[in-house]
Amino acid sequence: MRGSARIILVLLGPPGAGKGTQASRIAVHYDIPAISTGAMFREAVQRGTRLGRIVQKCRIDQGEYVPDEIVIDAVRERTSEPDCIPGFLLDGFPRTIPQADSLNAMLEQQGQALNGVLDIEAPINEIIGRFSGRRVCPVDGSTYHLVTQPPQQPGICDICHSKLIMRPDDNSDVVRRRLEVYEQKTAPLRDYYRNLGQLREIDATGDPETVFGQVVSVIEALKAQTTPVL
Ligand code: AMP
Repeated sequence: MRGSARIILVLLGPPGAGKGTQASRIAVHYDIPAISTGAMFREAVQRGTRLGRIVQKCRIDQGEYVPDEIVIDAVRERTSEPDCIPGFLLDGFPRTIPQADSLNAMLEQQGQALNGVLDIEAPINEIIGRFSGRRVCPVDGSTYHLVTQPPQQPGICDICHSKLIMRPDDNSDVVRRRLEVYEQKTAPLRDYYRNLGQLREIDATGDPETVFGQVVSVIEALKAQTTPVL
């Protein structure tokens, strides 16, 4: 895909709708980095960096959001790395209106524009089921599900062979809080992007493969429609 027009995409959708799974597939298919702010923060906490120490105080393990300025700085820095030249996919950013405004300003400054926003939606009962079975690799961040996407060897990461864990913020009380925060602070972004004509809804009820089929058709339509400035 390198050499073609730059692709800049946002994945929106409630926690547990399958954004991470789709993000990894999109990254491979279009050869662009998938930037997950959540994964960046978890890694920073694990490595004990300055960002990690700040983020830890924000109670992300309890489902609370990191303040906008910190998230925006982290994204600005990450997206200016050379691997983002062909484009990038943002998973979990923006999550608030000020973050979305900053992203627009950031792209505008570079003479760029978003190709589109994929809104990955699943019904609430399905989301709850997904959380209880979700397992992640603490080393490379890859995601599995006990039923729908099991690793080849139970409890072991296919990629780096580390022991899989349940994310601390996947326990039911924190999940409830995360969904609440999402409805309050992030769901308004659906209207924000719909009004900009950039929102594309994806029904994430099916298996990841079927959902990915929809995702690719939407991205192809967006690429055909938008001609971002190079
Ligand atoms: P995720 O892996 O996307 O579910 O993110 C995990 C947690 O990181 C979220 O529940 C938030 O606490 C924090 N986080 C990730 N992205 C953002 C963001 N864009 N704004 C604020 N907090 C975020």
